[in-house]
Amino acid sequence: ATARTPLMAGNWKMNLDHHEAIALVQKLAWTLKDAKHDYGSVEVVVVPPFTDIRSVQTLVDGDKLDIRYGAQDVSAHESGAYTGEISAAMLAKLGVSYAVVGHSERRQYHAEDDALVGAKSKAALAASITPIICVGEGLDVRKAGEHVAYTLAQVDGAYDGLSAEQAAKTVIAYEPVWAIGTGEVATPEDAQEVCGAIRGRLAELYDDSVAQAVRVLYGGSVKSSNVASIMEKEDVDGALVGGASLKAEEFAAIVRYQD
Ligand code: PEP
Repeated sequence: ATARTPLMAGNWKMNLDHHEAIALVQKLAWTLKDAKHDYGSVEVVVVPPFTDIRSVQTLVDGDKLDIRYGAQDVSAHESGAYTGEISAAMLAKLGVSYAVVGHSERRQYHAEDDALVGAKSKAALAASITPIICVGEGLDVRKAGEHVAYTLAQVDGAYDGLSAEQAAKTVIAYEPVWAIGTGEVATPEDAQEVCGAIRGRLAELYDDSVAQAVRVLYGGSVKSSNVASIMEKEDVDGALVGGASLKAEEFAAIVRYQD
């Protein structure tokens, strides 16, 4: 939509073991190399489960693939007695570029609140990992017409304590919860309304240069058939894709939305 580099990130959730991860990334790379198509400057990111990351790293480095990878979560803590958690430094060591924080499934099943989302974002940034900060309202809030205020309050909470320099390095994903995994897609106008409001709030919290630097993604049942109309919107800089990122050809078609 602008000078910002479009970003297409595939969140695999709890799917695919490390063998399947290698197969998918290989197929994705072959499909994207197809000379008949061009995906221009679009940045391609896969977000596998933690146990796949080392294998993805080996493949991406070995074959010099133009694909980046992320983690689905990151600990807010640096190190120590936090059984089951994975630190940002550990992820950075594996060449991880992005960490999804505050996904609605983490908020719902692991009671993550905005303060924790902010702390995880800070931990990621300290290790030079870009947090993809997820926000978005549930169906009740949408029906009550309070989706913009609700989502902006999540932005306020997550960015509380982040400097302008830190904020400029983040990515935000607007994911209306009612559109995640449901086949229910927000209209391009719905996506623009909230993505634009988020950018406006960043300008208020910081300044225009921060607001213009941050990429705002849309997420929620994005597929190859609807991605282009969403990407046409001024404040939508990419997509966070769940289900449709598990098939190489479909995710490649999303990456090549400009075809
Ligand atoms: C997601 O989990 O971030 C997501 C957007 O999922 P889906 O594309 O399957 O709705």
